[in-house]
Amino acid sequence: MKFATKTIHSGYDSSQHSKSVMPPIYQTSVFEFAEVGEQLPFSYARTGTPTRAALESCLASLENAKHGLAFASGMAAIDAVLRATLKPGDEVIAVADLYGGAYRLLTKVMAPTGISVTFVDLTDPANLSAAISARTKLVWLESPTNPLLNLVDITALSAIAHQHGAVVAVDSTFATPYLQNPIDLGADIVVHSATKYLGGHSDVLLGLVAVSDDKLFADIKFIQNSAGGVPGPQDCFLTLRGIKTLHLRMERHCDNAEQVAAFLRDHPKVEKVFFPGFVDHPGHAIARQQMRRFGGVVTIWLKQDTRAEASRVASKLQLFALAESLGGVESLVNHSYTMSHGGMPPEQKAALGIREGGLRLSIGVEDIEDILADLAQALAD
Ligand SMILES: *Cc1c(COP(=O)(O)O)cnc(C)c1O
Repeated sequence: MKFATKTIHSGYDSSQHSKSVMPPIYQTSVFEFAEVGEQLPFSYARTGTPTRAALESCLASLENAKHGLAFASGMAAIDAVLRATLKPGDEVIAVADLYGGAYRLLTKVMAPTGISVTFVDLTDPANLSAAISARTKLVWLESPTNPLLNLVDITALSAIAHQHGAVVAVDSTFATPYLQNPIDLGADIVVHSATKYLGGHSDVLLGLVAVSDDKLFADIKFIQNSAGGVPGPQDCFLTLRGIKTLHLRMERHCDNAEQVAAFLRDHPKVEKVFFPGFVDHPGHAIARQQMRRFGGVVTIWLKQDTRAEASRVASKLQLFALAESLGGVESLVNHSYTMSHGGMPPEQKAALGIREGGLRLSIGVEDIEDILADLAQALAD
């Protein structure tokens, strides 16, 4: 099956559900046994429900993976992967400019348990070869990164990690399975915050994991069931519904983002535009190699590098809501410095290029003329 068909048909068999065309929302915590010791497909909702199972197998299919797992949030998914792959004494090497929440989880929750957390600029794979050791059990990648849209070469980094016996996980939230399939590129685990593009309508918080290796799957599933960070059936349903239009939405997000990036690049109030679709973007060649298009996020540095200027522009925007998230049908603007990366130390932000006068734009699927007009009026004096 091709991708667009999979988004609509994968993971669900209506003949098992009274021919209901949409997956039913099994709003129950428990399923009945016929006799003691019976092996039921579903017994208790923390372990699984038919609605969640439909979502899990849909995601697996979209990522060309064997297994899928759903969590209550992207962070719960990341937490489960970290716990399933690391124990005290082990090291995780993570891409330097990763999502603020993942940075906080690694440094404030995992590190105090005796796991060493090393951040490395992995835009050059040689830096991984130099840093990796027998203690490194996990290499944590994110591509493109939030908010500066750096790319890492998933194929090259996976090969290096595997030579050293480390597992490779990729947070592919910004790309979605429509634009990038990390397991096909050599990674072991893919993580998504489905809160973003997969759900796609800013109405659900959910995390997803795709994995092909049976042992890794069993280990992550064990954490999923033991710790219980699972989504309810309503949220699984909403995510499944969102996924049905993922391919349509992503095409428009990508079209609109390309036009916004080109418009902002020539704007006198804008110092720099970060967009992997630009031929002079440092990750452009890798983007061409491992992504189908360049995504729907555009990040800018304003010429006037102050919080006041970022605030002025963000507040003047009418279509763009000033909000934490991204990936919804509506355009959103994020002040990464105080919002998504508020928990990162200022020195770290400075080193990465997350500035007071920077804004991350999640370009929605509105009419491009309205989006450009809104940006023009907000940037004007
Ligand atoms: C939002 C986000 C997360 C966290 O997901 P939640 O669903 O908010 O818990 C992780 N990684 C990236 C890249 C994100 O954008």
